[in-house]
Amino acid sequence: MPDISKNHADVIIIGGGMAGVSLAARLAPLASVRLLEREAQLGYHSTSRSAAMFIPNYGTPLLRKLILASEDKLRGDSVVEGGVLTPRGELAMVGADETDSLNTYLEGSVGLSLITPAEAAELCPILLEDKFVSAVYDAAAADIDVDRLFQGFIRLARKAGAEITTKTEVHAISRKGEDWQVSTNQGDFQASIIVNASGAWAGVIGEMASVSPITITPCRRSAAMITLPEGQSPDSWPMIASISETWYAKPDAGRLMVSPADQDPIAPCDAWVDDLVLAEGIDRFEQATTVKVTRLEHQWAGLRSFADDHEPVVGFDPNAPGFFWLAGQGGNGIQTPPALSMIAKELILGEAGPQTLADVEMLAQLSPGRFVS
Ligand SMILES: Cc1cc2nc3c(=O)[nH]c(=O)nc-3n(C[C@H](O)[C@H](O)[C@H](O)COP(=O)(O)OP(=O)(O)OC[C@H]3O[C@@H](n4cnc5c(N)ncnc54)[C@H](O)[C@@H]3O)c2cc1C
Repeated sequence: MPDISKNHADVIIIGGGMAGVSLAARLAPLASVRLLEREAQLGYHSTSRSAAMFIPNYGTPLLRKLILASEDKLRGDSVVEGGVLTPRGELAMVGADETDSLNTYLEGSVGLSLITPAEAAELCPILLEDKFVSAVYDAAAADIDVDRLFQGFIRLARKAGAEITTKTEVHAISRKGEDWQVSTNQGDFQASIIVNASGAWAGVIGEMASVSPITITPCRRSAAMITLPEGQSPDSWPMIASISETWYAKPDAGRLMVSPADQDPIAPCDAWVDDLVLAEGIDRFEQATTVKVTRLEHQWAGLRSFADDHEPVVGFDPNAPGFFWLAGQGGNGIQTPPALSMIAKELILGEAGPQTLADVEMLAQLSPGRFVS
């Protein structure tokens, strides 16, 4: 097991969400790793607030490749015995004015079926058929057991010797000889490599370390849990969404999670719902379905953080030796970490190349260097 001295490690990871812990699990068998998390609870921010969906056809071509590259790890035993996916399916509903969104969605997609509104309503009986002209069904979409996946990564990381500390806020980062010095409320720590896995705070941590000014914009996404009328159980329904992502709803243990699919840029924070945005989104959901929402069981918001081109930022900063970015996962930071953490590990250990998970084109698309002239 790699040695970790009191204050020095090979790698310090800043951020104990899905990005940070998945990388700690990969690196810890091969390098000494210290993970620092500000909150008392790992995964407190975006990681514990997601819709927990695996949707292979979601996002840009690069993201779709990363999702597919993660699939066998999510289905197989390597992180959690038995995997973490349960079949759900996804129906993306197409309105008369949404042909452009449909074409974008179909481009480069795999395994989708184009079906009629009537066929869609057979799969999910609350849908109002006359509001749509068609629907796209993705049978491979699945629920992700986020907690099991997250705990699986934590277990692997700890077992391999990673030091994970909570209530440890990084407030300054500087160079100390060949190393980075990371100052926290629990003292100073050194490492030759630091990883910025701080989610919505990735831009703040970058600024703190005076590395390349890469913009990572946190965007709020809200959600509410609703209960359906007596006798209606959504458990066997697929997730339903408007194809242009103006609302979505997902069954969750007898209830329905409904989201306005908002994407409003805000400063990094402990995100909370904007009531008006949520109400407008619920109205769009009601117009597409037979459901009349009378009561919200509970509501929440989380941050999805994006680089300017909406692709993840994974790689060493070209202007700051030993500073590694693992940021900008946006709305894909639960379904892509099995692949992203592997790519990050290969880059950090100098293994990445044509024989490894990431091809050269993918590495260039992920590289922070794409933002640096
Ligand atoms: C409503 C919603 C639905 C979503 N649905 C899905 C989905 O269905 N599928 C999917 O794949 N993704 C989904 N996502 C996206 C996914 O949740 C995120 O991409 C992912 O959780 C990001 O993980 P992270 O580790 O980068 O960030 P986080 O989980 O936010 O972790 C970053 C951590 O860094 C810590 N940190 C920050 N600054 C410091 C500091 N100075 N010192 C110490 N620690 C610090 C924070 O406290 C935080 O815990 C959704 C997101 C939301 C909000």
